[in-house]
Amino acid sequence: MRLRNIPGADEAIASSEYTIKEPETLKGNWKSIFPKAQPLHIEIGMGKGRFIMEMASLHPEINYIGIERYSSVLLRALQKMEQNPLPNLKFMCIDAADIEEIFAPDEVDRIYLNFSDPWPKDRHAKRRLTSRQFFARYDKVLKKDGRLEFKTDNQDLFTFSLEEIPQAGWHLDACTRDLHHDAILNEGNVMTEYEEKFSSMGNPICKLIASR
Ligand code: SAM
Repeated sequence: MRLRNIPGADEAIASSEYTIKEPETLKGNWKSIFPKAQPLHIEIGMGKGRFIMEMASLHPEINYIGIERYSSVLLRALQKMEQNPLPNLKFMCIDAADIEEIFAPDEVDRIYLNFSDPWPKDRHAKRRLTSRQFFARYDKVLKKDGRLEFKTDNQDLFTFSLEEIPQAGWHLDACTRDLHHDAILNEGNVMTEYEEKFSSMGNPICKLIASR
């Protein structure tokens, strides 16, 4: 994602009612910040938030948290939320590498990763959100029967992710390299910003579902 530093983004995030400040203080107590105690799904690397906002609107019976590392990007989602507030959705501006400090064991029911940064150099592999190092972090916070869903148009990143799943001790539940032509996996699919952009350029979309 091309990044422009937007003046005032940090201040807007710090003062917004839709963002979580000092998220580590809520560890083990995330249900308390939502009007209803219900399952918690998180998206890591939510970008401008199109996917998670549509999911939260379609599924009021689920609580959602969108995680984005950069305040200038998260600001775009905040602006959309101000137009259309959703009681079951909150955002936080953190690096997902710190996820174990933020959520207690078994606190998260599902993890979404959409069009994660590919980090193409081998020496940066552990920064990929589907690396075994990140699976080990997800292991600490995801419920035992929880699952992770990952979409990308990047074939190399998808192949890498498929290889990391068994290395991390996880199990591949479902997989396609052409989501939009897979009647089963595409059912109820909600497009992300990147998915819309890359599929309109003719790139097939890959998706996998993994659990332990
Ligand atoms: N998910 C969106 C989509 O599909 O349209 C955005 C995809 S964009 C390529 C990846 C996003 O993940 C960027 O906004 C980036 O800042 C964020 N990101 C990457 N690594 C992250 C991390 N370790 N923690 C939090 N966000 C991260």
